Amino acid sequence: MKIAVVGTGYVGLVLGACLAENGNTVACVDKDAEKVATLRAGRIPLYEPGLEEMVRRNHTDERLSFTTDLTTAVRNSEVVFIAVGTPQGEDGSADLTHVLDVARAVGRAITKYTVIVDKSTVPVGTAKRVHATIANETTQPFSVVSNPEFLKQGAAVEDFMKPDRVVIGVDPEDERAAALMKELYGPFTRTGAPIMMMDTASAELSKYAANSILASRISFMNEVANLCEVVGADVDQIRRAIGSDRRIGSSFLFPGVGYGGSCFPKDVKALAKSARDHGYDFKILQAVERVNHLQKERLVAKMQAYFGSLKGKTIAVWGLAFKPRTDDMREAPAIVIIEGLLAEGATVRAHDPEATTTAKRLFGDRIAFCSRSYDALEGADALAVVTEWNTFREPDFQMMRQRMRSPVIFDGRNIYSPEHMRSLGFTYFSMGR
Ligand code: NAD
Repeated sequence: MKIAVVGTGYVGLVLGACLAENGNTVACVDKDAEKVATLRAGRIPLYEPGLEEMVRRNHTDERLSFTTDLTTAVRNSEVVFIAVGTPQGEDGSADLTHVLDVARAVGRAITKYTVIVDKSTVPVGTAKRVHATIANETTQPFSVVSNPEFLKQGAAVEDFMKPDRVVIGVDPEDERAAALMKELYGPFTRTGAPIMMMDTASAELSKYAANSILASRISFMNEVANLCEVVGADVDQIRRAIGSDRRIGSSFLFPGVGYGGSCFPKDVKALAKSARDHGYDFKILQAVERVNHLQKERLVAKMQAYFGSLKGKTIAVWGLAFKPRTDDMREAPAIVIIEGLLAEGATVRAHDPEATTTAKRLFGDRIAFCSRSYDALEGADALAVVTEWNTFREPDFQMMRQRMRSPVIFDGRNIYSPEHMRSLGFTYFSMGR
């Protein structure tokens, strides 16, 4: 099939590469000319496991191309995906400026029947707005489909190639668009993952409901962990006890320093706002958000409680990205933690396997960046573990102790065992244990 993907960020690039990998001819469009030039040169502007090779292979085989020319890409395509950002607006709602800009441009470009697929995460009613926007620009026949994306950064290629399910929102009368979408996703669902056809409002809401329930689980477990600290219980034991209940399951039960990223924070807010706009108060979401906000401040509070004052202390920070296997720092807990440390007068020495370039844009020379994890520990009064990269799990503890001024660890991700750390002579604090 001939496809255009508009927006070549985390989602658009994975989508374009994976569609090309299955034999489609894909033109990835972005308004950012520098990004397009980078991609044409065979490099990718973000870190995502397995993506660079897939992009290069399909680019070399001429199934995947990159352009700033939306009109030509759209005219050459049967299906056009909109995969641009939907950032948080000032009032918490999803800002649809980019989506509607693209819809207008697509409307002006099409010269034949085209299926326009909304891949961006958007509030209920957006498919109808996109439809109206395109209809204002053209008399050509077209369909608008909602196809939310559930991939996880850090495992995006794998998630796209082998999805748990594909959700497609389409007008129940629109058999032509439904058939085209089923054909497109056929190769990705051969092992039995369902393609779920539904109305566009349900598809749009599915995405927000999925992210919000995951965020709720994280905030819930953070509350359990905080209570554990008060009553002297161990959140790890509780996590195992409840996770083995099949009704609950074991995923997303890990307490930590709060959720971040480009999706959970904005999607929780956007769902709450969208509910309010429809006259419904989605009460749980406010608590989920509030808990998350407070959780990001807990690690610094623990350090303050231990040291009294952080003024003049040197704190090593392991992990800057909002989660492992990505260089993305959007809404990362590390930002709140580092800003908190700096505000208290501490010096920060940070290390992250992939997010240093991103972090340099945020912090400049306000903190020291170390390309090796052990270098960050040089002269440190304490280590804060903020992101649970695999390389932090089994370090050389002997070497860590030698590098640090005092062997104190604040583990925001519970990656070490308290007994083991104590036996090695560390003063060790974690979350809810
Ligand atoms: P991103 O910010 O990484 O990328 C968006 C891209 O769109 C940018 O390269 C930007 O230059 C481009 N763009 C913006 N306006 C444009 C226009 N008018 N014409 C052409 N290009 C334009 O965003 P992302 O993380 O890929 O997210 C895209 C959407 O997918 C969002 O709605 C997001 O909520 C959703 N989503 C993201 C993830 C994720 O893990 N990042 C997962 C599922 C869904």
